[in-house]
Amino acid sequence: MKTPYFLIHQSILEEGLGKLHTALESYWPNSVIGYSFKTNSLPWVLSFMKEHGCYAEVVSENEYELAEYMGFEHIIYNGPVKGKDSFLRACEAGHIINIDALREIEWLKEAASAEKTINVGVRVNFDLESMCPGEASGGEEGGRFGFNYENGSFLRAVEELKEIRGVRLSGIHLHCSSKTRSLNIYRAIAETACKICKEYGLDLDYVDVGGGYFGGLPDKPQYDDYLGAISGILRKYFDPKRTCLIVEPGTSLICPPIDYVTTVTDVKESNRNRFVTTDGSRIHVDPLMRKKGYFYHIEPMKPEKETVKMQIISGFTCMEDDRLFRLTDAPALQCGDQIVYEKVGAYTMCLAPLFSGYYPDVYLEDKGRITCMRRRWGVKEYVQGTEK
Ligand SMILES: *Cc1c(COP(=O)(O)O)cnc(C)c1O
Repeated sequence: MKTPYFLIHQSILEEGLGKLHTALESYWPNSVIGYSFKTNSLPWVLSFMKEHGCYAEVVSENEYELAEYMGFEHIIYNGPVKGKDSFLRACEAGHIINIDALREIEWLKEAASAEKTINVGVRVNFDLESMCPGEASGGEEGGRFGFNYENGSFLRAVEELKEIRGVRLSGIHLHCSSKTRSLNIYRAIAETACKICKEYGLDLDYVDVGGGYFGGLPDKPQYDDYLGAISGILRKYFDPKRTCLIVEPGTSLICPPIDYVTTVTDVKESNRNRFVTTDGSRIHVDPLMRKKGYFYHIEPMKPEKETVKMQIISGFTCMEDDRLFRLTDAPALQCGDQIVYEKVGAYTMCLAPLFSGYYPDVYLEDKGRITCMRRRWGVKEYVQGTEK
């Protein structure tokens, strides 16, 4: 197997999804998992999620088309810029749609008819930062998705929907991305859902609490903790038999099972440092260039006794800052040693640029058997559809 490549461990993926199913079963059996396409939309991953009962959670027209292509029977259509064609198809097919922009209300006016009811949800924008100071991704500027509760935009959207014959408000969507993934975020989401429904007397088919959970890290909250916190609050207002709970995990499911395997290609000394060059790159495991560290292990070709003070592990691109991590007081790395980055399945493969090298191979490991799930891109794939 030619490095670099991604390696998906099916058993770890199954274990994570199993834990989520168990937690939902015990806290809110009337529930749906919408797998967040954007987190990792490798076709094999999507098929796996579909076969395990997940709905597709998509946030753009292309993702909606991908869900159709993959044969998902159930789609949750979110996102601030949906396409009109796919929006109307979703209305027609009766998929779950959470509106996020005024123009979608106009589209609903066009699509509505007396014969068939279109059920829609509304994404709620609420002041998470004031409920969980320092934790919201939007920080002091506030979040930019959905219709704001505090300034009355949410209520106006709900009232406009009421005016459209053949359209019915069926749910609310409260996904928030946070810096902390803490339980407090989900308590705030659940509190807000109860508050809004009580205040406006809404009777809902579903409450969608979104994604953003930790997964596969023993010292962080588990699905049981998240769902315990959410259901404890939601139960004060919602009847679990009447209202479905939707969760939209991405990272927590697909981050843990994927490794990235690289090989040391060169070791060089400068007057200042020892650089260990590898055939992998930060663009494949940290495309946003902001990770502070990695889970990794080293598979040496042969045992090495010499210890060196400092080694800087770097990547194949010609960017100076394609440096992955530093090793201090560790055995000297040699050509041929493998460095395996673990838990790198979320926002990596889907965000990697086509910079200097193309997409690497992706393999699946299932009970020791290895299968190629995506062949690496070469020039042929890169130039597809272009003129020379
Ligand atoms: C990104 C996103 C998710 C998934 O978030 P993770 O942090 O990957 O779990 C779920 N729902 C919506 C609406 C999103 O935008």
